[in-house]
Parts: sequence; C-alpha cells; structure tokens
Amino acid sequence: MIYFDYNATAPVMREARESWLHVTEKLGGNPSSMHQFGAKASNALADAREKLAEMLGCHPLDLIWTSGATEANNMVMHHFAKKLGTTGEVWISAIEHPCVFDSAHYYFGKRAKLIPVTHEGVIDMDWLTTELADSRPALVTVMAANNETGIIQPWREARAICHQYKVPFFTDAVQFIGKMPMTGLGECDFVSGAAHKFGGPRGVGFLKIPHRSQITPLLHGGKQEGGRRAGTENLAIIAAMMAALEVREKQILRSEHLLRKVWRDNFEAQFLRALPGATVIGQNQSRLWNTVSALMPDGDRKLQWVIRLDKAGFAVSTGSACTTGKEEPSHVLSAMGYKSAQAHRAVRMSAGWETTEADWDALLKAVVKVHAEMQHKA
Ligand code: PLP
Repeated sequence: MIYFDYNATAPVMREARESWLHVTEKLGGNPSSMHQFGAKASNALADAREKLAEMLGCHPLDLIWTSGATEANNMVMHHFAKKLGTTGEVWISAIEHPCVFDSAHYYFGKRAKLIPVTHEGVIDMDWLTTELADSRPALVTVMAANNETGIIQPWREARAICHQYKVPFFTDAVQFIGKMPMTGLGECDFVSGAAHKFGGPRGVGFLKIPHRSQITPLLHGGKQEGGRRAGTENLAIIAAMMAALEVREKQILRSEHLLRKVWRDNFEAQFLRALPGATVIGQNQSRLWNTVSALMPDGDRKLQWVIRLDKAGFAVSTGSACTTGKEEPSHVLSAMGYKSAQAHRAVRMSAGWETTEADWDALLKAVVKVHAEMQHKA
C-alpha cells in the first residue's frame, strides 16, 4: 500500500520514535516535581522550548505546548471571546480548517467575519487592505497553507498590513511547518503547529503567543506552562515532535523539498494529459510541494476514486480528513466559487518526505487504470 494522505497525518519517523523511547526510559519524572527526576525532565522541556523558539524566531516563553492544533486554535478563539465579551469582531479567512472556522463561529457567531478568497484559492488581499482601512477587528486569522488544496496564503503580507493597523495576526501553520522554511513565523502574534503533520507523534502541538503577554487558559487546574495550560506536560511526545522537526528543518535547509516539487509537478503534467477533463485546483498558485488537489473528469465521483484507488493499493483522500464522509461540499472549494457538483469530484493526493518519484509514477499508472475502468463501467 502506498500512502498519499500526508496532509491528514504522516507516519511517525524513526528519530521521533527513538526520542520518545529515550525520554520515556530516561526522563520519567514530572517536570513540575522538585526532586532530581523532576529537574531533569524540566530541563529537557526547557531545551525543547528553546529549540522551537529558535526555529520560529520568538522567545521560548512565548510557546505553550498543547495536545495539537485543534486545542491551540480553540485556545486563541476562546482567549479573544473572553477578552471581547459581546462586542468586537474577529476576521478569519473563508478557508480555515474547521477547528478555526467552527470555533470562531461558536464563540463569535456573526461577529466572525469571513475574509473572501479568490477563485485561485488565495485570500483577497485587496479586500483585507480596504476593510482594514475602515475598521479594526480584534484579530485577523489567515492560515499559512491550506490543508485541502495546499495553496500557500500570503500570510507575511497579511501580517504586515495587520501590524500596520496594530491588529493582532494569527496563522495556523499546521500544514506549512515541516514542509516550508519557517522564516518570519515568529513575527506573527499567534502561530499554531501540530507534530503529526511532519513525522512527529499525534496528540502534540504548540501555540505561540505574543511576547510577554498572557492568554486566558482553556484548561484549569494546574500551574503548568506559566498557568496558561493546565495538565502535566507529556515530555516524551514533545521531545519526539522536536526530533522530527529538527530533521525536517535540515531537509528544508538543504532544499530537499525542491526536487520533490519537481516530482509532483511531473505527476500533475502527465495526469492532466492522461485524464482530459481533469483539473488541478490552484495549479498556478504557490502551493505546498506535496499536494495535488484535483477535480476528476465530469461524472466521476470522488468516493469512487478513493475506494478504487484504495483497492489498487493507494491511500488518497477526498479532501480534509475532518470533512471526509460529510455530504456537504467542502467549505474551502465553495469559498473558491466551485459548484457543489464540481466539489464532489475533488480528490486530494498528498505526498510526504518519504514519497519517492517511483511512488508518484505508480500512482499515475493506477489513476489511469482506474479512470479507464470507470469509463468502461459508465
Ligand atoms: N489546522 C490544519 C490546517 C490542519 O490541517 C489540521 C489537521 O488536519 C488541524 C489544524 C488540526 O490539527 P490536530 O490534528 O493537531 O488537532
């Protein structure tokens, strides 16, 4: 079975497993304990925090370990909900992951205003610039890269314009971190990340908050993380996350992702030639090097594709893992102006660092074969 669903989750890499095992065996103390076991664990936790701060370009104490990005993203919305009470708006891009989108609507209802996106899947910077000249939301949220399409958002430009108007800027960098250089992320006020998208374990992530600021905790009952997130820190999975991220950082520094982009682009070119009527969403946009989000030819249903490719030995998906199986079309494709019938033809193929050129070739052959079978059946 060849895995092409890395945007949903990535396999845990060897370095992360080894780090987990090492910490579990050697650093079993609670970081809050006063004895030597506790001190050792606390030092290791501080080391991990320093490493991440250096990579992001922020202060170690600006970082809070969380159970993943869903928690981190909810923390931001919850914080602003408490801060604002019943007045003030937050603006979020129309293509945010459900854990931002739904949480913003839960806390703010109609006061969560959507930043429109173009048909090419990029936030409308003209809209943002014009609206900010007129009014000041309490927070602007634009993800760094979209999980369904892989389209990279102009988060640096959005951050700059927000800061010009002194509006805090939040980016969900879950799909971006571990695939693209992190330069500049530390200058965003809030940043979230999750280990399982880049080869770390599931159930661990982080939130970066503005320097020397506080955040209203979501969880109460402990003084961990400077009173900002209660609960004993899971040092082993935090260390495993950092082990994975260090490897990814080195690969990115060596520009190893550029060759992988070539493999993906070659796949796309051949795919479009072999399947007339298929399109690649946001093909000419700046996109993550691993993602192909395609509208299959007319009449082809995405679930059929997923099932048939699965039988052929390839794991692909219909879009975001969290919306898989839902009847409504993806809110991301709807926001880009795709009709429901088009959105129902969307298949996402997302590779990882481990994916080889031969894997892409094999996927292409399988896609062509499944297409021929589906045409024959129709
Ligand atoms: N944000 C984005 C862009 C994602 O792709 C995901 C996971 O699919 C999440 C947030 C949620 O992350 P987690 O699984 O760590 O809760």
